[in-house]
Parts: sequence; structure tokens; C-alpha cells
Amino acid sequence: MKSREVHLNEYLKGAPSASNYSVVEVDVPAPADGEVTVRNSYISVDPYMRGRMSGIKTYIDPFQIGAVMDGGAVGEVTASNFDGLEVGDHVMSMHGWREGYTKPGNSLMKIDTSILPAQAYLGVAGLTGMTAYVGLKRIINLQAGETLWMSAGAGAVGSVGAQFAKAMGATVIATAGGAEKCEYLKSIGVDHAIDYKATDNLADAIREVSPKGIDAYFENVGGPHFTAALETLTGRGRMAVCGMIHRYNDAEPSMIADNLTYIIGKSLKIEGFIVSDHMDIQGDFIKDLTEWMMAGKINPAETILEGIEKAPEAFTGLFEGKNTGKMLVKI
Ligand code: NDP
Repeated sequence: MKSREVHLNEYLKGAPSASNYSVVEVDVPAPADGEVTVRNSYISVDPYMRGRMSGIKTYIDPFQIGAVMDGGAVGEVTASNFDGLEVGDHVMSMHGWREGYTKPGNSLMKIDTSILPAQAYLGVAGLTGMTAYVGLKRIINLQAGETLWMSAGAGAVGSVGAQFAKAMGATVIATAGGAEKCEYLKSIGVDHAIDYKATDNLADAIREVSPKGIDAYFENVGGPHFTAALETLTGRGRMAVCGMIHRYNDAEPSMIADNLTYIIGKSLKIEGFIVSDHMDIQGDFIKDLTEWMMAGKINPAETILEGIEKAPEAFTGLFEGKNTGKMLVKI
């Protein structure tokens, strides 16, 4: 079997472009003892990958130059020499941006596609959903009756997080770029949708729909969103800092906010998190997600590009707001 895969050519500063990658065709070997061969059906593109393209070690290693971009993928086993995985089984892996591969069976997780489609394990039922859940449940400890602002509300984490927050009984304000995304937010039950691109003063726009301010803020964006959140959080408000995509393509670090003294005056609790540090609550997540889905409370959205060669375009699209819901590449 042949497979095309996407390699990173160089570490970069600033916004990613097509020249940063090569699409390379390779032979996929037959599986040796303990190995399986998989044909991917979907791969995930995620904002955190931008950090790995800078060549700097953070909580995760940088990508290797000239090697495949690793990351979440789901696919079907086409040959197996590993006990526990058979031809036709669906698996999730971190083997990344490629059409297929042969790898040790113990590096794969078997997934059940009888209720949810395979790609849901890259979205609502995978780390995307888990990220939203950790931020809301553990970091913010959202309570029924509270008002939450979800930023990047029409994105992968934001759109499922907004629906989780509704299921938890909160009033949800969500921000997104453009009227179409705001219509989408209303369609998933968000109480107040705000187009941040059509707003001169984000804090005023929040206060307009919630004069008392917000009890909690789910940070996916940073920059002016962070500043507006400090202004609109009420006393003892909580902020889960999940991501700051506004800054990921900055060539140099920059100052983010000049109103940090609100943290003291309002006794705010601001806590960052990495989802993989909170896998101990995965059981609670699956239990709540199953209950909410059975009750019809969660409708995940996907934006799908087709063909492995589209992976770089899909990735760049995250920084241009091209996705509603989870951005995926179908193989
Ligand atoms: P999304 O699907 O939300 O895609 C990114 C979205 O961010 C875009 O659709 C766009 O929406 C918005 N955006 C991009 N650039 C800007 C900008 N400059 N200003 C405002 N909005 C912008 O991605 P994910 O759901 O996968 O990730 C959301 C956030 O969560 C990211 O910051 C990511 O890094 C973080 N994350 C953190 C994890 C953790 O463990 N802490 C795990 C997973 C994700 P719009 O059109 O509305 O602008």
C-alpha cells in the first residue's frame, strides 16, 4: 500500500503558509509481529499544533523537521498481526497527517462506531469535548443559573462547550466572527450570540446582553477578548484559560492587557489548564455526555475538507475562522 503524508519543512515565525509543508508518498510495509496497518478516514487539525511548529519545547515536544506531522486521526484496520485488533476495526491514533501507516497495535485505541461516527472521537467524544468539559466542570465549576461567556463559540471546543454549559443550566453568551456564525450559535441554543468582528467595544456588547456582567469566562482567544472578560467578570468571577489563538501566530511575544488590576479588585480566579492533565474525570465526561446526547441536547458541527493535501489549508483555516464546529480532513 502507498500512503501520502504531510511533512513539516521548517520551523516558522508568523502565520503558516503552503511552503512550510511537503506532501510525500511512501510505501506502507506489511505489519510485522505486534503491528497493524491502518487506512485513515479522518485526521484532525488543531490550533495547538501551531506551537509545535515553532521548534520550541513547551508542555509538548516540537514537530520534527522532515517527518510526518503527528496528531489525532481515526481509521480502519486493513491488516493485523496484533492480538485485540482485527481487519475492519476502527481505531484512533496520534499518528497524524497521513493516509495510512503500519504501527504497533498498542499505540492505537479501538473505538466503537456503532453509536457515534468515527470522526466524533476527534471532536465531541474526544479531546475536543473533554477540553470543554474540563474547563467548565473542573476549572470554572459552572453552576446552574450562572452566566458564562464562551469565546470562539462557533469553533470546535467553543460550540460543544456552549451546549454543555446550556445542559448544565447556565445562561450562555457566545462570541464568534460573523453573522452566519451567530445564526449558528442561536441554532444550538446559545442565549446571546455576539459578532465580535462587528463590535467596537466587546465589554459594552457583553454588558448590553447581561447588565450584571458574567460569572464565568471560557477563554479560547486572548487579546481584546481577555481584556473585555476582565472588565465584565463579576466579583469572585472565574476564568478557564484554555487557549489564546489570537496570539499563536505572533512572531514576538506582546503585552496582552493593561487592566490586570481587576484580578485583585474583583478577587478573580484565573486558571489555565492542559486537557491531558485531567484525564481522571474522563469517566464523568462520558457519563454526562451520553446523558446529554440521549436527551438531544448536543448537536456537534463539523467543517470537512477532503484529501490529505488539504491538511495545511484546513489548519491555516483555523486562524482565519473558516470552520464552524470541528475542522477535519477526510481521507
Ligand atoms: P476552533 O475550532 O475554535 O478554531 C479556532 C477558531 O478561533 C476559529 O474558527 C476562529 O473563529 C477563532 N479565531 C481564530 N483566530 C482568531 C483571532 N485572532 N481572534 C478571535 N478569534 C479567532 O479551535 P479548537 O476548538 O480546536 O480550539 C479552541 C481553543 O482551545 C484554541 O485556542 C486551542 O488552542 C485551545 N485548546 C486548548 C486545549 C487545552 O488543553 N488547553 C485543548 C484543545 C484546544 P471566529 O471565526 O469566531 O473568529
